[in-house]
Amino acid sequence: MSPIKSPQRYPELADPQVRPRFTGVPTFFRLPYSEDLAGLDIGVIGVPFDGGVTNRPGARHGPREVRNQSSLMRIINAATGIAPFAGRRVADLGDCWIEQPYTLEAALAEIAAFFRTVKAAGVTTLAVGGDHSISLPILRAVAANGPLGMVHIDAHCDTGDDYLGSRFHHGAPFRRAVEENLLDPKRVIQIGIRGTVNDPNMWRFSRESGMRVMPMDEFQDLGWRAALSEAERVIGDGPTYLSFDIDALDPAYAPGTGTPEAGGLTTIEAMRLLRGLTGHDFVGADLVEVSPPFDHAGLTALHGASILFELLCLLAAAPAR
Ligand code: MN
Ligand code: MN
Repeated sequence: MSPIKSPQRYPELADPQVRPRFTGVPTFFRLPYSEDLAGLDIGVIGVPFDGGVTNRPGARHGPREVRNQSSLMRIINAATGIAPFAGRRVADLGDCWIEQPYTLEAALAEIAAFFRTVKAAGVTTLAVGGDHSISLPILRAVAANGPLGMVHIDAHCDTGDDYLGSRFHHGAPFRRAVEENLLDPKRVIQIGIRGTVNDPNMWRFSRESGMRVMPMDEFQDLGWRAALSEAERVIGDGPTYLSFDIDALDPAYAPGTGTPEAGGLTTIEAMRLLRGLTGHDFVGADLVEVSPPFDHAGLTALHGASILFELLCLLAAAPAR
């Protein structure tokens, strides 16, 4: 099939990813949109579901706005030199859309089934939420061969328990994941934790299960380099998941999110931390909690898309499986 318009002067423009960035349909990173898993290494997947929020909704609109802002990304990470599209076959696999959004546990089961199908084809997944409840069903698929380590960057530990009668919501996915033997808590580090609580033991499960919790005050005192060293010590060489809640960033950078907390990471601190993790055995990642209805000037979606590019680079640079 020949295109209607082919480049006449600049043959490199045959590649949509290097055309002027205001052109084209905004898939993630202007990648080809494809639901064909054959021959693919990494699939970027939207999960437009926010049925697990405890406060402000809207993260169901996250994938579309992150796609839009991700069209600003070019193809090479200038800081690390990683060109994630050159070494690995990457596609926008579209959305994991939900048939039963009013039934939380059924919706989570749909998400797990979708990611199991992708994993069964040997494709590494990079998910864009959606609220943080989606990480549990993703881990049910990705951790099928045994518990994983995790680098978790968030204002909240998300290891709470039942809330208003539900065991499943965006404040509890990682407690459930440990209970389901999807995570090895001794190989989990949680960075950026802060904010107010109603119960001083709200995140007790993290500490009692052996997770390394790095509150925001400690991060600020020690800096991103020390946080990086600590993360590398905790996750070691084993297979590791990476979950990035955009509310880890200060609301100055990411106002459009469900549960903002003042006093967070700057975007460059998060980027330096992520870049430092290059080469570790990351087997999947997600970016969650971008809520466009609460955003201003696309700030949160832009920073989210920029973090997503760093996550993609980590997956592309992980040891081949
Ligand atoms: Mn959070
Ligand atoms: Mn979270």
